[in-house]
Amino acid sequence: MHGERFILALDQGTTSSRALLFDAEARVRATAQREFRQYFPRPGWVEHDAEEIWASQLAVAAEVLQQAGISARQVAAIGIANQRETTLLWDRASGRPLAPAIVWQDRRSEPLCAALRAAGYEPRFQEATGLLLDPYFSGTKLAWLLEHLPGARAAARRGDLAFGTVDSWLVWKLSQGRLHLTDPSNASRTLLFNLERGAWDQALLDILDIPPQLLPEVRSSSEIYGECAEEWLGAAIPIAGIAGDQQAATFGQACLYPGMAKNTYGTGCFAMLNCGAAPLRSRQRLLATALWRIGETRAYALEGSVFMGGATVQWLRDGLGLIATAPEVETLAASVPDNGGVYLVPAFTGLGAPHWQANARAAIFGMSRGSNRGHLARAALEAIAYQSADVLWAMERDAGLRLTELRVDGGAARNDALMQFQADILGVPVLRPQVTETTALGTAFLAGLAVGLWSSTDEIARNWAAERRFEPAMGEARRAELLAGWRLALDQTLAWAACQVQVS
Ligand code: ADP
Repeated sequence: MHGERFILALDQGTTSSRALLFDAEARVRATAQREFRQYFPRPGWVEHDAEEIWASQLAVAAEVLQQAGISARQVAAIGIANQRETTLLWDRASGRPLAPAIVWQDRRSEPLCAALRAAGYEPRFQEATGLLLDPYFSGTKLAWLLEHLPGARAAARRGDLAFGTVDSWLVWKLSQGRLHLTDPSNASRTLLFNLERGAWDQALLDILDIPPQLLPEVRSSSEIYGECAEEWLGAAIPIAGIAGDQQAATFGQACLYPGMAKNTYGTGCFAMLNCGAAPLRSRQRLLATALWRIGETRAYALEGSVFMGGATVQWLRDGLGLIATAPEVETLAASVPDNGGVYLVPAFTGLGAPHWQANARAAIFGMSRGSNRGHLARAALEAIAYQSADVLWAMERDAGLRLTELRVDGGAARNDALMQFQADILGVPVLRPQVTETTALGTAFLAGLAVGLWSSTDEIARNWAAERRFEPAMGEARRAELLAGWRLALDQTLAWAACQVQVS
């Protein structure tokens, strides 16, 4: 026990900061979590207090060490996984944030994005960064801050300020201002990072009038960047791994080779397909993104999200009152043998990839006099699988790759019937891992690799183990019939959205 070595994974999420302690067998030995405040100062604005992020993260880090009863000297390295795109700006001398952090959900920079789109800049941004001109990404949030905080742009030009996503902020705080850096997975969410070159893109910085002096150094995702100050946890622990949350989860799922994909079934669904060593450009408005860099090895992915994943089940619960808790959907769906011809297109907030129809609204099709709550529950679960399949198939087309299996995580991935249906519809096995804390595990792997706790990515791939494997079992005729029903429902929903545009 005394000589045992651990990895401390910091999982800094949108609503809470978490810390997990992993042992050398990649098992979770302790976890702690602390929520922090969400600020909504105006419609469309979402902010965090940077100091609260830091304080909550430090507190949970100390808590897991205490829980596990180990000394900080037994921690071989710290890895960081973080909410992506959230934008921070601070003063280098005092370390104080100039403004609240602008959270990824914040839409305040939409007018700037619209102006840039109107000026014809989107293809340049998409070509260089793999992203679209949307307020989601950090670049226009940073431009907004420089524009609206008095004196900020001049101070930035003098080199007095530092910009960072949450990873950079945590590393800065952990190292008491000695380190200002990020990794490609986070950099690639800023709209400022050239995917091909793996470096900040001066032409894009010029378009947004962002002084390069602001930017963190882009290092690899797995190396010893430096040490955390001894005063925080009681030892100078190496900081050795960084990845944005979705990329960290992809690493934690050991999707290390081209053609491997993971899908996270949370509120929404987040799919990532490993495309290998060169960035691809999507022809279907999926995002291209950096996965990680380890040594000189770079990996890239296509990313696509479904807006209503587990949230479709929340709607059954809160919108319709059909169930009292999300897991009850399983019993309700099992009360009928099949969907009875009922399809739900959960376009409550429009449709994302690969349809991109913001005006679309949800609809239920195919009900007969015999349709009941069970059929609706079934249709809701099936819709999560159809939507995910549509995204994954779009990725396959873009990448020219065939999916061989799908690795899954997130709250709704606990639903066995949903996972079986996903395998049936996709026609490939769906694998649910033993360690479902894939985000934290991913960054623990990255940090552990850097300090030699694990020797290679191959060893990590061998460490990954499935808790359950769902084999496709549906007959081809049935599958084709269901998919035809879904397509028809989807087409009608899109047609309705097109009519709505005409009448308004
Ligand atoms: P997030 O990280 O986005 O908050 P989680 O990974 O915690 O999401 O998953 C929560 C989501 O999973 C909720 O939307 C909930 O409705 C859904 N969910 C939880 N349990 C089940 C279940 N057994 N079947 C289907 N959906 C579920």
